[in-house]
Amino acid sequence: MPPKPASIYRNYQAGETIFKDGDPGDCAYLIERGQVSIHKHVQGEDVVMATFGKGEIFGEMAILDGLNRSAAARAIEDCQLMVIQREQLFDQLQKTPITHLLVKILLKRIRNTTDKLARVSGTAMTSSAPVFDSVIEAADQPAIDRIRLGSELQHALAHEEFRLHYQPIVDIQSRKVLGFEALIRWQSQNRGLVPPNVFIDLLEESSLIVPVGSWIQERAFTDLNRLKAHFGTELFMSLNISVRQLENSFFVEELNRHTAAHGLGPAEVKLEVTERILMDGQSGLALLADAKQKGYLISIDDFGTGYSNFQFLTKFGFDSLKVDRSLLRAAMLDPQMAVVLRGITGIAHGLSIDLIAEGIETEEELGLVRGLNVGMGQGYLFAKPLPFDELIKVYPKGGG
Ligand code: C2E
Ligand code: CA
Ligand code: CA
Repeated sequence: MPPKPASIYRNYQAGETIFKDGDPGDCAYLIERGQVSIHKHVQGEDVVMATFGKGEIFGEMAILDGLNRSAAARAIEDCQLMVIQREQLFDQLQKTPITHLLVKILLKRIRNTTDKLARVSGTAMTSSAPVFDSVIEAADQPAIDRIRLGSELQHALAHEEFRLHYQPIVDIQSRKVLGFEALIRWQSQNRGLVPPNVFIDLLEESSLIVPVGSWIQERAFTDLNRLKAHFGTELFMSLNISVRQLENSFFVEELNRHTAAHGLGPAEVKLEVTERILMDGQSGLALLADAKQKGYLISIDDFGTGYSNFQFLTKFGFDSLKVDRSLLRAAMLDPQMAVVLRGITGIAHGLSIDLIAEGIETEEELGLVRGLNVGMGQGYLFAKPLPFDELIKVYPKGGG
């Protein structure tokens, strides 16, 4: 085995001080060998607050909240310690800013309590006490904003502030409307009409996406029946389904309940999922297979933006594949990307998967996908996503 780099290890002899109360907290330690005690001076006496042994971490508080050490550490026996640099812990915490903020709040409380106890028992305040209030800094603002947004979204659900807009999906040759994609918006009192990219991630991170998803089904199926009546024809409704929704084992049951309540058949409902479902293990795929088996239509969304895993296409009986609009744009500009697009459409045709081109804005783009035998299209060229009331004004009764 190669020797361990010396710089990440520090050795201390029994009785040696590792850090003192009030020292700057530049790193934490993982105990590889030996025992360490943490202590504080209370009324002239040295009080041991904790002891740690092999495999335990200490000294992390000061690097998490950026304050000085609030107690001293000493080796009880000969020790080998691995140094954990501030940045290592920070990299992890930066990925989850809300956790970071909560950790800081917790540490602030612990330090405050320790400080009060020390004061009650008559000792001086800890060296770090005066800076407690600066713990929650401007850098935490994004995390605080997310917490606030999360609460506002709870409120939005309870107060029916979500809206659905519907964008037609048309037959590329005839431009006849075949169905609609339901796209969520939030009519917020403070923020106005908020697009989904601002809040979908947060809905998915919290479990709010499950009740919101349920509301979407209820609303979209009610409107599908009204649209069918208005257009006087069969139509399908496409719903965006997030990975998190497919973690809920009742997903298909609930879908069945909603469709049945509206007298709809499964073939009138299309579920749009992205390749992210592949990374979520088997449970989501199993639920999707169950939905497929019950007759719901399954579509791959955003194909050409992520991993574009072609094996995924063969594994599952997908009904349709949506070519992402970024791929369409790229194919218009770059002949090599046009070859890629042609390849994807060829594979889909070969696997009998219907194609939908999304984000068609110009006649030229329409010409390109028509030339590739793409069957369905969606985009501003045909119609923007619209609320039900406006949609029926744009499309005269009985036709699309
Ligand atoms: P998406 O599923 O890829 O939806 C298509 C997006 O492209 C929509 O953005 C739509 O308004 C936009 N779009 C349609 N035609 C055109 C066009 O011609 N040009 C351009 N530039 N854009 C076009 P939107 O409504 O802002 O939705 C963004 C994303 O938010 C959606 O992307 C979807 O991933 C997510 N989303 C929307 N509604 C829901 C929902 O109910 N549930 C879930 N889980 N996700 C949703
Ligand atoms: Ca979609
Ligand atoms: Ca898409």
